Amino acid sequence: MKNESYFRIFREAVRLQKEGRLIDGIENISIEDMDEGLLRGYIASALGQEPEEGISLTELAKKALREYEMNKPILTVTGECEDDCREAGVHKCVKSCPFESIFYDRKASRIKISKEDCTGCSECIDACHKKKIIDKIQYFPIANIIRDHKAPVYAAIAPAFAGQFGEGITAGKLRTAFKMLGFDDMVEVAIFADILSIREAVEFDRLVKEVGDFMITSCCCPIWMAMLKKHYRALVEHVTPSVSPMIAAGRVLKKLVSEAKVVFIGPCVAKKAEAKEPDVAGAIDYVMTFDELNEVFKVSEINISELKEDISDCSSKGGRIYARTGGVSQCIEETLEKISPKRMIKLKAVQGNGVKECKELLDKAIKGEIDANFLEGMGCIGGCVGGPKVVIDKETGRVKVNEYGEQAEYKTPVDSLCVLKVLGGIGFEIIDELKEENEKTRIFRRKL
Ligand code: SF4
Ligand code: SF4
Repeated sequence: MKNESYFRIFREAVRLQKEGRLIDGIENISIEDMDEGLLRGYIASALGQEPEEGISLTELAKKALREYEMNKPILTVTGECEDDCREAGVHKCVKSCPFESIFYDRKASRIKISKEDCTGCSECIDACHKKKIIDKIQYFPIANIIRDHKAPVYAAIAPAFAGQFGEGITAGKLRTAFKMLGFDDMVEVAIFADILSIREAVEFDRLVKEVGDFMITSCCCPIWMAMLKKHYRALVEHVTPSVSPMIAAGRVLKKLVSEAKVVFIGPCVAKKAEAKEPDVAGAIDYVMTFDELNEVFKVSEINISELKEDISDCSSKGGRIYARTGGVSQCIEETLEKISPKRMIKLKAVQGNGVKECKELLDKAIKGEIDANFLEGMGCIGGCVGGPKVVIDKETGRVKVNEYGEQAEYKTPVDSLCVLKVLGGIGFEIIDELKEENEKTRIFRRKL
């Protein structure tokens, strides 16, 4: 659920920054009746900073424009906690965490989060009825690198974007809007979902040879991957070693344009955590969410519906429907059918929809009780269209994503000339080269 007070503060800070008064005006931001500690925490977090004691908000604003330390926790816990939310002695946020990453520090009498273990699943944000847990916003350092323009800055927009910025907002109009904000260009991450689907179909061929074999796809949810890596190590041998489409987008853009900075925009707090994971860090420089970006467009008075169309990427239907539960399975199944039509054992998929279902699915997989050979998991109910930072409800999001999929010129990734064009830019001559394990395809792999 959107935290209106937090967004009010963020909007005000963006307004000050646009007017060139962020540093002078930050101390004057206020919200009636808001506790001082909470207000300070919200302002610091809206600036992407920790509300460190002894540092003024003016200093934090200066820091915000100068740097964003990637090693900061993605969440901020503001102020001390009362005991009144405890149930059987356990705070609500602590109880809500599926990863045991949040705890009550008795000595400091406050809630703390382990930045190494936190996946950004957002359960604790929703669980805190006092709204004391919030995710840091990375907008200000982005505005700074755009202004300095020492390197090209790219926006990589998640496949779930369809419908999030208003009725009739196409990828072409959105690209124009990003350019108005000062970005050099925008790419659709769906193109990289296309590329990874071919890799995943190849992996299926490798891993599923007999009845009883199964594959767990690593595309594309970081919550699903965190569950596997932290709690279901025994299943990791079935997981494909592919990076997510977000990471692939960052790596490829940086290979195509040296020094490029890449900002991922999606519906997800967990992507803020994924961008910092040690084996993939460096691909994505900053992460923003749809609702944060929407506020920036509003304050910047950019009315996207009135903008002219720029060119659109030609992602396939398969890459576009990644944004809803079942989309990954459908895309990889159809891709497999194209690359291996005579295969005797066909892909039979099952999905985990939300953390609870993902757990149940993986428990069954451990016990050998799965009647499927392809497992897809989405940390949010409905998939990314149900992510914590969407602007529209998940049912409408699903409809919009499906509509956008149907509008695609290409049905599957292997039909797409755009896939070939992107791959050509990084040295591939034919799509079939994606089937190989070599230096070229290393860009799409990760350690498990
Ligand atoms: S965001 Fe999720 S993983 Fe991180 S502390 Fe909160 S509940 Fe735990
Ligand atoms: S399903 Fe949710 S947690 Fe997973 S990538 Fe999508 S928005 Fe993020």
